[in-house]
Amino acid sequence: MHLPSGIEFAAGASTLAAVPSAAVLASSARWRVGPTRVAHRLLAVGTAVVALTVVAGLGASLTMSPDWVHRWPDRMMLATLLAVGTTAGTATLLAGVLWLSGRGGGGRALRHLLDALVVAAAIWFVGWVLISRPTRVLGDQTPKGCIPILLPCVVVALAVGVVVIVAMRCPRPRGGMVLLGSGVLLVAVGGGGLAAGTCHNWWVAFAAGAGAMPLGLLAVASASRLPDEVAGPDEELIRRGGAYAFVPMAAIAIAAVVHLSRGGGFEDLYGMGATIVEGFALVVRQSLALGDVRRYARRLAEREAHFRELAHTDPLTGLANRRGLLRALFTEAVGGPPCVLLGLDLDGFKNVNDLRGHEVGDEVLMEVGQRLRMNLRPGDVAARLGGDEFAVLMWARPAEAQRAAERLLAILCRPYEQAKGRVYLSASIGLAGNAHAKDVPTLLRNADLALRYAKQRGKSRVELYDASYERKLRRRTALDHELRGAIERGELHVAYQPVVALPSVRPVGAEALLRWHHPVLGSVPPDEFIPVAEETGLIGKIGAWVLHQACHQLSLWLAEGHDVWVSVNVSPRELPSPEYVVQLAEALRAHRVPPQRLVLEVTERVVATDLDELIRRLGALRATGVRIALDDFGAGYSSLGQLRNLPVDILKIDHSLVAEPETSRTGTAAPLVEVVVRLGHRLGVEVIAEGMSEPAHRTVVEAAGCRFGQGHLFGRPVPAEHLEAQLVAASSRLRAAPGSRVGGAPEAWSAATRHGETSDNAQHVRPVDSSREIRQA
Ligand code: C2E
Ligand code: MG
Ligand code: MG
Repeated sequence: MHLPSGIEFAAGASTLAAVPSAAVLASSARWRVGPTRVAHRLLAVGTAVVALTVVAGLGASLTMSPDWVHRWPDRMMLATLLAVGTTAGTATLLAGVLWLSGRGGGGRALRHLLDALVVAAAIWFVGWVLISRPTRVLGDQTPKGCIPILLPCVVVALAVGVVVIVAMRCPRPRGGMVLLGSGVLLVAVGGGGLAAGTCHNWWVAFAAGAGAMPLGLLAVASASRLPDEVAGPDEELIRRGGAYAFVPMAAIAIAAVVHLSRGGGFEDLYGMGATIVEGFALVVRQSLALGDVRRYARRLAEREAHFRELAHTDPLTGLANRRGLLRALFTEAVGGPPCVLLGLDLDGFKNVNDLRGHEVGDEVLMEVGQRLRMNLRPGDVAARLGGDEFAVLMWARPAEAQRAAERLLAILCRPYEQAKGRVYLSASIGLAGNAHAKDVPTLLRNADLALRYAKQRGKSRVELYDASYERKLRRRTALDHELRGAIERGELHVAYQPVVALPSVRPVGAEALLRWHHPVLGSVPPDEFIPVAEETGLIGKIGAWVLHQACHQLSLWLAEGHDVWVSVNVSPRELPSPEYVVQLAEALRAHRVPPQRLVLEVTERVVATDLDELIRRLGALRATGVRIALDDFGAGYSSLGQLRNLPVDILKIDHSLVAEPETSRTGTAAPLVEVVVRLGHRLGVEVIAEGMSEPAHRTVVEAAGCRFGQGHLFGRPVPAEHLEAQLVAASSRLRAAPGSRVGGAPEAWSAATRHGETSDNAQHVRPVDSSREIRQA
């Protein structure tokens, strides 16, 4: 093969391969971004430089005299042109490969370059040992005096290093990158072959170079198919092994030993230079790796801290979760400065979820979290323990924490504005200080006890832990448990307390009061077990039972001719139930009791609820013919303003008003009793004074013009037979009195009322129909 025609072939084939390759790479660079775009541009430029170099070589050879092949200076000049040009092009291609291999960022390209240098230096050193004295594997064919071919040799060694590193290090799939690297290696070999072939007039090398070059350029074009995205640097760091450094170092060591053992020396720079490059590359690489490891460790620590924080955070509200609270408690709370744990539970939150949906529920919980966060003091920790349960660790003394808790309660009770309308909520709060808790579980338990106590005392309130709560709660749980079967076990009975007419003190009515005697718990007062029954829903069943007992007893007394009425207490929890009216009508019918003889006592507390609804409910009860009494009037819930609108027939003045200290000591009319009696009479409502236990009370009540009284002074609540004895005795006394008339059966009572006769009942207790007329007047 003649050299010029070889050059023509090399130039033609390389140009044919380079033009489409460069075009593909340049166009793919246009729609790429970041490092991939730069890499594609480098590859396109490198391809073009290599092809131009070969074409320039062809051009230069054509300008020389025809026998330039036999002239050493001409060949040197042409070889230098080819070596420098192809080295520049190949180096640009290698830069493109490294750039592409560094797509994941984090200085990956620099690290790959250093790793490739480690491999390349070893290859160079081994090559130098093989080629130089005393080994000289090429023997007489050993190239000499052709300095320019050293450049392509360096690039070939580097290209081998790059291919090795790309094959070992690049994120999978690596096929595309290995193909690209191999393409650049072929181009480097091609450049070396052309330079060496030209320099030494060595046609085999020239032909190999001319063949490798276009193949390499076509392989480089395959880079246009590589994806932009690859895995980040961390993955590479984790997968990195030490083989890339050990194997080259071992190769250098073995080659050096072989070289020295054969009597070789290190008199030229080629061998030494390789070991120096190797050493420096390894040192720089090592320091970079150290930096990587440090950065990675720092990032790991940050991530760990982040995840640890996440594990201690409630995802919905962003507050701490139970773990977070426990961490704060265990690290700081017990044995530390004074702090208070505040347990907080939203009242009736389940209704929000049930009626408005869980989405609204979640939004409300987020808002609660926000309100808590906004109102914490510095250092306080707010947490959501689950569901609608929250907690706050406050660095304060109990008194201060209680004030803060009251403030929080007011804030949490404000309406929650939601897209689907307002949501009203309240909260119950229990506080426990660390001074009384020996450890964290005790502190948590105390706060929980205080919270449960707050719930049981009617919710929407703050309670500070007290040692007695546990006993109280245990008793309450026992009451709840035992009350369930109390009717069936016959532990309940009804006692009757007389209501007397004043001043005659003749019993005219009786209040049915429930009694519970439990074999172990003893006598449980209604003030204690009625709230439990109300809370557990048992009140419906118990109330119905009392109503039937009272109606039964009333029917017996009326049948025996006693002129009495009986009053039954109705719980505020029973009132809203539409079935109550039905039960009432049924009880009246079953026991054939005239409705006017039955009074339903409704505590004044109910006035604090929805007034329109209350008026409707009481009106429905009254429509059956029974009379309504407003019980405990004046006990704190001022319903004076509403009295005119309420469909009631009787006011029962609470004993707190009757037993005012002033009343007991001086016997002078208590202004309030007088006011209530006057007001009642003016509204056409009868008035009964409750809790009259001392003669002084009677004086006061009578002086105020009250015509009925009830209290220990006239008789305690007793079994029905005892009261019946009182009724009989009173009837006998009345009969014995000259000119008296005894009120008896319901018919007689009604007749007496109509004709204005003198029975106490007839005189003072109006039939229900007339009350409205009186009020209107
Ligand atoms: P109340 O309806 O106001 O009943 C009057 C309470 O005052 C009764 O207490 C009675 O024993 C007491 N009392 C009567 N005279 C005097 C007196 O002179 N001095 C003093 N200090 N107290 C007097 P009791 O029987 O313990 O009932 C307490 C409350 O329990 C009742 O107050 C009523 O609200 C409720 N209760 C009782 N039985 C029932 C019932 O069957 N159903 C419902 N829902 N509540 C009931
Ligand atoms: Mg009562
Ligand atoms: Mg009362």
